[in-house]
Amino acid sequence: MTTSASVPTGPDSAIRTGGAGENSTAGTDSTAGTVTNRLVAANERYAADFTDPGMDARPVLEVAVVACMDARLDLHAALGLQLGDCHTIRNAGGVVTDDVLRSLTISQRALGTRSVVLIHHTGCGLESLTEEFRHDLEMEVGQRPSWAVESFRDVDQDVRQSMQRVRTSPFLLHTDDVRGFVFDVRTGLLREIDPA
Ligand SMILES: [Zn+2]
Repeated sequence: MTTSASVPTGPDSAIRTGGAGENSTAGTDSTAGTVTNRLVAANERYAADFTDPGMDARPVLEVAVVACMDARLDLHAALGLQLGDCHTIRNAGGVVTDDVLRSLTISQRALGTRSVVLIHHTGCGLESLTEEFRHDLEMEVGQRPSWAVESFRDVDQDVRQSMQRVRTSPFLLHTDDVRGFVFDVRTGLLREIDPA
């Protein structure tokens, strides 16, 4: 496999050598480094204390959580989840797209989950977008994206729509335990949304 000419060395060597003489960092001192360098360094510390949990891939709590990618939503902390407990499926808005249904289908049929939890949140970036976003993109790059923006005005209604998409999917084995919530980014509390 060839790599881009602008990345002549692997990230490992760049970090382990402290960047001395590296020409891949374009004059950046890698001790300051890119954000990815920071993450990789944090991983080395994580791995140093890591012990093999000896789990298989099936989530212990048999639950899949679909949530917005929002940086203020720490799913594991907010829901008391531990390593191995659940599948987490995230995208912009926590929207139940075809690809989310693909993941849920695999989660249920291949990996034994039975419950679905949907989490949207207050102050979501999608509330300030419209489908004009797609139009503007098309004008800028000359190509219309195949995906919908899935922007929304009413977060409660958006959660209901998401629940409905899960419940009516023909591919899922288990649609009886599907619940939806709005996470308040200021209080950390979940508010359940009535599906009706
Ligand atoms: Zn969001």
